[in-house]
Amino acid sequence: MKAPPFSYLRAASLADIFVKWDATGAETRLLAGGQSLLASLAFRLSSPSTLIDISRVPELTGISAGGGMIRVGALTTHAELGAHPVVRQQVPLLAAAAPLIAHPAIRNRGTIGGSLAYADPAAELPACCVALDAVIVANSATAERRIPAAQFFTGLYATALGEKELITAIEFPASTAQQRSAILELARRSGDYAMVGVAAQAEFKNAEFVDGKLVFFGVGEAPVAAGAAVAVLTGKPLTGEAIARAEAALDIDLSPPADQQASSEMRRHLARVLLGRVLRRISQKEVVRVA
Ligand SMILES: Cc1cc2nc3c(=O)[nH]c(=O)nc-3n(C[C@H](O)[C@H](O)[C@H](O)COP(=O)(O)OP(=O)(O)OC[C@H]3O[C@@H](n4cnc5c(N)ncnc54)[C@H](O)[C@@H]3O)c2cc1C
Repeated sequence: MKAPPFSYLRAASLADIFVKWDATGAETRLLAGGQSLLASLAFRLSSPSTLIDISRVPELTGISAGGGMIRVGALTTHAELGAHPVVRQQVPLLAAAAPLIAHPAIRNRGTIGGSLAYADPAAELPACCVALDAVIVANSATAERRIPAAQFFTGLYATALGEKELITAIEFPASTAQQRSAILELARRSGDYAMVGVAAQAEFKNAEFVDGKLVFFGVGEAPVAAGAAVAVLTGKPLTGEAIARAEAALDIDLSPPADQQASSEMRRHLARVLLGRVLRRISQKEVVRVA
């Protein structure tokens, strides 16, 4: 199907986005990589009157490090995330997530800002942002807000962004020597959205798990942090027994939906399998990095 007719405007700067947004109606949408929005237009799932193309706005680009923080511009593509030396070194979970997203053509255009704003419950990057305690930087014409990732995803395809507010950047704490991270997922075909996935970041002291986040995707309306599983593991080495108890604790953490891909019980089973795998992986000495 073809997209319904719409007006197209290209913004030249952050300030220009707000000028154009103010001058157009409520049915205006921002266009970044277009990898979700253009598909939804082609399927006639939405019919905005105007698209404002933000893909050439310089203030939304770039990756920089400083003060123990890595700042990733909203227009950073999935491919750039996977390849950037600072991301690979300082936020290895993000670099590991990138190749799991869709296919190379989509990764070359799709952006982290678009992925977070779209908030697909089966997407990798929202779960990584929650696991990493990222902060979403959001700007309106008059103010800048910094929203912790754990508060950003408010429901199915829903976020804490206000009207005429956009994501300009995402900030990640640089990983420390005590932290290990990994992401695993199960999809029916390579490149498909995950049926179930988990993004894990854990801190160890000697061999003990002292802190961490185990964040599942594809199992709810938004990323789901498995707090009961983390509580079971905290203060203990990651032995086979501790891992089995954490898998059992997922019954408290997860109430996955059923759909045409998998029943609720199947998703629960896959989540337990993935949790066991991801914990065994991070219990090894090495921080998981992309080869
Ligand atoms: C076949 C296919 C398979 C895919 N598989 C996966 C997958 O496995 N995992 C995955 O995570 N994703 C997958 N995607 C989605 C892909 O990652 C998209 O790139 C991403 O979801 C949206 O990014 P975008 O830059 O293309 O955003 P766009 O499509 O341009 O925009 C998406 C939405 O976000 C809004 N938006 C964009 N940027 C901003 C911003 N900075 N601030 C506020 N709002 C903004 C837009 O207005 C729009 O509503 C797939 C897409 C396709 C077509």
